[in-house]
Amino acid sequence: MKIAAIVMDIEGTTSGIGFVQNVLYPYSLKHIGPFLREHREERDVARVLVRLSDSTGIPLHDLEGMIRQLQQWIRDDEKDPELKTLQGMIWEKAYKQGLFQAHVYPDVPEVLQHWQQEERNLYVFSYGSVKAQQLFFRYSDHGDMRLLFSGYFDSSMGPRHDLDTYSRIASSIALPAQRILFISDDRQELDAAAAAGMRTTWVIRPQDTSLDVERVRLKTSHPVVTSFEQVQVD
Ligand SMILES: [Mg+2]
Repeated sequence: MKIAAIVMDIEGTTSGIGFVQNVLYPYSLKHIGPFLREHREERDVARVLVRLSDSTGIPLHDLEGMIRQLQQWIRDDEKDPELKTLQGMIWEKAYKQGLFQAHVYPDVPEVLQHWQQEERNLYVFSYGSVKAQQLFFRYSDHGDMRLLFSGYFDSSMGPRHDLDTYSRIASSIALPAQRILFISDDRQELDAAAAAGMRTTWVIRPQDTSLDVERVRLKTSHPVVTSFEQVQVD
């Protein structure tokens, strides 16, 4: 059956792991305080603060208390929805100012274009919010890549090591799982996608992992590649 859709992970797959961990997160940790002190009166920010106050019990007037809570969540890699919204706002401002660009491996854009020309729909599945994913590909170091993608999936689909998550993604794309290829650097994600019926490809980026490609190939049923150019779609 022809593969009609390709779903891909970001970190360790289209992109290096370092950018999110070493650039985006530390930036939001450093700037969340100044950002909230400056923008707390603006409607979008004020709304998030009300929800945050409701969910944490920290009084709305205690902005510094809320900042301390948010900073702790960033350090603990806590996936709170209000934190994600605020991080999206902070990153958007920084991307627009040209303070950084999102990393994409150089083999990726051309291969994605080729797949698009073959009339395959491309999707992203990652734990960053949909907004953060869109910012990422809008301000990539290969330019605005948003037109390559038909859609974005985030943690609202479910846990990334869970079979049902991939069934849900297939239903959202409105294709049988057998017509979808899932590409990731994470074995448990690949196992879950395969269990849901998707085709899979394991990307090993030597820059991001110490895994030995040849050893992995011997041990796994997932096809293994080190760049998007090696992915066999059909
Ligand atoms: Mg990954």
